[in-house]
Amino acid sequence: MESARWRVEPGAPFDLGTIDPGDTSPAPGDKKITNAAVKELRDRLAELQGRLYAAGDQALLVVLQAIDAGGKDGTIKHVFKGVNPQGCKVTSFKQPNSTELSHDFLWRIHQNTPHKGMFGIFNRSHYEDVLVVRVHDLVPEHVWRRRYELIRNFENELSVEGTRIVKFYLHISKEEQADRFRRRLERPDKRWKFSHADLEERKHWDDYRAAFNEAIASTTTETAPWYVIPGDHKWFRNWCVLTTLVETLEDINPQYPEPADDLPSPADVV
Ligand code: AMP
Ligand code: MG
Repeated sequence: MESARWRVEPGAPFDLGTIDPGDTSPAPGDKKITNAAVKELRDRLAELQGRLYAAGDQALLVVLQAIDAGGKDGTIKHVFKGVNPQGCKVTSFKQPNSTELSHDFLWRIHQNTPHKGMFGIFNRSHYEDVLVVRVHDLVPEHVWRRRYELIRNFENELSVEGTRIVKFYLHISKEEQADRFRRRLERPDKRWKFSHADLEERKHWDDYRAAFNEAIASTTTETAPWYVIPGDHKWFRNWCVLTTLVETLEDINPQYPEPADDLPSPADVV
């Protein structure tokens, strides 16, 4: 499987520093050729989603995490644009509100996991509770540290009950982040995305790197694997994410339900 290349295996040493964010191998070709392949993969994804929806006995949960400007929004836009909106729900997790904060960190997450038959797409997720929360000391270390195990148990429960989980870390370089911030500031249609917090967060680049390294290493499992996708080139990133999703769904291999025995023949419809 092509996606095995980006998959983080449990138990093996892991360091984002060893993975090149500018990688474009093994793309099917240059940007143009790869974009053509992306179109075909999108069609395939749409067909598989239709089958998952019709079968209605399993769900797919896609978790997207990245540093600011890492490409979460763009990935959602380009990867899922072909799928039937009825079978798809995107949830973007922002700073928790007071009700959410008054519960355990997984409470708001579990309420948004996909129904059977659905794609659930998480733009940020429960992983923020071991990332931003760690970097900014929002809870003591012993509290965020025990969350790795809570996350593994939670994801295992979802998976045993019929939700396939695929987690993507979109991996960009520090230079690429700076370029994207500059472009956001230059372009009137992108400026709204810039937040003053973005430059503040950028100062914590190394802390985020350490937090991602440990979070990914501690929570990649057979049933809920992490995939680290080289993200500096958006066209390559889209192709990698689509390839991984199509391979995952082909493995699930959802089938249209068997027709009922007493179905009338088309000629009976008068
Ligand atoms: P954006 O994705 O640009 O809309 O920003 C959402 C913001 O919400 C980011 O700064 C996240 O770090 C923050 N956020 C999301 N989840 C949490 C969380 N559990 N605790 C604290 N901040 C969070
Ligand atoms: Mg932002």
